Amino acid sequence: MSAEKIDGKALANKLKESNTALATSLKEAGIEPKLAILSAEGDIAGNSYARSLKRAGKRIGLTVEPTGYPDAIAQDDFDRILKETSRGVHGVLVMRPLPEQLDPAMVDSLIDPLKDVDGVHPQNAGLLALGRPSFIPATARSILHLLKSTGVELKGKRAVIVGRSPTVGKPLLQLLLAEHLPVTVCHSRTADLPAVCREADVLAVAIGRARMVTPEFVKPGAIVLDAGFNWDDELGHELGDVDPAVAEVAGWLSPVPGGVGPVTTQLLLENALVAAQNSRP
Ligand code: NAP
Repeated sequence: MSAEKIDGKALANKLKESNTALATSLKEAGIEPKLAILSAEGDIAGNSYARSLKRAGKRIGLTVEPTGYPDAIAQDDFDRILKETSRGVHGVLVMRPLPEQLDPAMVDSLIDPLKDVDGVHPQNAGLLALGRPSFIPATARSILHLLKSTGVELKGKRAVIVGRSPTVGKPLLQLLLAEHLPVTVCHSRTADLPAVCREADVLAVAIGRARMVTPEFVKPGAIVLDAGFNWDDELGHELGDVDPAVAEVAGWLSPVPGGVGPVTTQLLLENALVAAQNSRP
């Protein structure tokens, strides 16, 4: 058996069209949508992603303004730059991981919740947990989007998420609960992880360990969604958290590259456009 591919590129192309239409309508209404991105100057991956968001934004009609800050920046100086950068834009994204001297919780709380396109402010995380409208982290939204694109009936299915980060695993838990799936969330202290994963009809993986999830983790026919993004210098591209050999067992598999990543990009841009739309007086 070979799993059906969940085509993130095709889905991203559809989202690109709807994003372009939304950006156009905002401009017609006199709003020039803008997203600011803050990343540490030494954060090679973060700066490269910021540049790729800038290019993707340009293609749909959203201005993306990346700003670098010194890696050794003090918390007070960072707070000031964040406030200055947030002025005159509709969305703000702070790249992670932050330099270790910065307090992630403090940074999350300093972002204006109305501009919080990555859904990290406690207000947005709380609203999501209550099932109320909020900005939702784009990677978690992307995984749900890919899952729904399979057209598989979710009623009666069991989900397992591997990873409990605030930007992927935890928000995805809320999204899958809202779809009425019973959900188990696993992490580094879960005993017998392969056995727990084998109970899943829907297995979502966001751990940051290249190809850790092998066929022995997967129930035959399961839908497997891979958020992993592990850069491989030798290969010159990213590897997922899921071993491609899983395709021999799974019913559906989102590839890396070409799965969660491109959809996440468009959904992040969409969040910025919605922030601009909400800013209308
Ligand atoms: P993170 O904050 O480092 O969280 C990793 C999670 O995985 C933690 O909950 C950790 O458990 C768990 N974990 C680590 N090792 C494990 C193991 N051996 N067994 C079971 N669980 C384990 O990472 P993240 O930000 O969620 O990112 C996860 C992956 O998704 C990374 O590859 C990242 O690059 C990728 N990502 C992709 C996108 C995209 O758009 N494609 C966006 C964001 C992230 P503990 O909580 O117990 O430590």
